[in-house]
Amino acid sequence: MNREFVPSRLDVTGFAEAAATLSGSDPVADYARLSAELAEPASEAQVRWTVQGENRPGSEGEPVAWLHLHAESTLPFVCQRCLAPVSIDLEVDRWFRFAADEEAAAIEDEESDEDVLVAARDFDLKGLIEDELLMEIPVTPRHEVCPEPVQLSAADDDFEEANEARPNPFAVLGGLKKPKGG
Ligand SMILES: [Zn+2]
Repeated sequence: MNREFVPSRLDVTGFAEAAATLSGSDPVADYARLSAELAEPASEAQVRWTVQGENRPGSEGEPVAWLHLHAESTLPFVCQRCLAPVSIDLEVDRWFRFAADEEAAAIEDEESDEDVLVAARDFDLKGLIEDELLMEIPVTPRHEVCPEPVQLSAADDDFEEANEARPNPFAVLGGLKKPKGG
């Protein structure tokens, strides 16, 4: 039996039961919250993802739905040193376990190493992919070596130029001391 699974409205329990796999490659523009974090529009950038479902026995032998998510993208963020765009690789590789309801998910999430989510027949997989990629963005993205002189030294250059424009105080002093008719 072939079932169609829709990433934006995923039947998590059915997906795990069928041990199904879904994958895709979407323009980053499809992910509004992620796009809002970028240094510049990245029309070529893709979010590539694969999700696998799996049922595992729970504490009383009952089937528990698990999902494995792998997602990756290379996106331009603002370098916190030079403020120019810097290309950063984001990668998510994580298991999620599904609980029957909100309450069970909250309790189980406290107790377990893996993330526990609430099972739904219309689970927003794209939302999960976006949440996870957002969490992978470094706090201070930056180039290993910035391509241009950093802002600070640009400011220093301006400062030096301003100094050069001002008359040298010693020259002024010399002028005053210059003997008359010398
Ligand atoms: Zn930089």
